[in-house]
Amino acid sequence: MAEQISQEQLRELQEKIKQMSPEELKEFQKKQCIFCQIVAGKIQAKKIYEDGNVAAILDINPANPGHILLLTKEHYSIMPQIPDDEIAHVFMVAKSLSNSMLKGIDAQGTNIIVANGVAAGQRAQHFMAHIIPRKENDGLRFELPQKTMEESEINAVGNRLAAALGGAAEEEKPAQRQEQKKEVAQAKKEPRQKKESDSNINLDDISRILGAK
Ligand SMILES: [Zn+2]
Repeated sequence: MAEQISQEQLRELQEKIKQMSPEELKEFQKKQCIFCQIVAGKIQAKKIYEDGNVAAILDINPANPGHILLLTKEHYSIMPQIPDDEIAHVFMVAKSLSNSMLKGIDAQGTNIIVANGVAAGQRAQHFMAHIIPRKENDGLRFELPQKTMEESEINAVGNRLAAALGGAAEEEKPAQRQEQKKEVAQAKKEPRQKKESDSNINLDDISRILGAK
């Protein structure tokens, strides 16, 4: 644990941080980061998986037994800093870990959660994905409110997002919209038929195999 430091020392430290190059700052952050210490093996943790880029450990205060923290080995504070191939790898490993919960500890489902930024509830200074095994009626609630929005507002925010991605938002024709609405209404009424193109893994199949139904 960090020792108490005086106001004077704190000012000195702040001054030092201001003078640091981006590389020095990153080194400094790494030294302060408990998750970098875990990745380096300097702090004990129950490691479930490790490769060149990521380490998966058990959360010591789990939301459910088996709750995994999937960490990048490199110190990244938030997702935008992570190169594409690394973030792709993170989510491939997340998929495997999720599968291991379904197969290995009788999870009936999993939640994979990334808090990206303080406003989103991020508390750790090191990027991580939480992989949480779930069972029906396990008492955890991740409920999203269903807000009401005008169609024009939905379209406006959609256009801004598409523009930020660099793709032009397609002007939707009213007729197209009607078709879409019909499809959605139809889908709500009837359970979706399994298509050839569907992934081989189906939640209903999994729950049947696991004896949940
Ligand atoms: Zn770190």
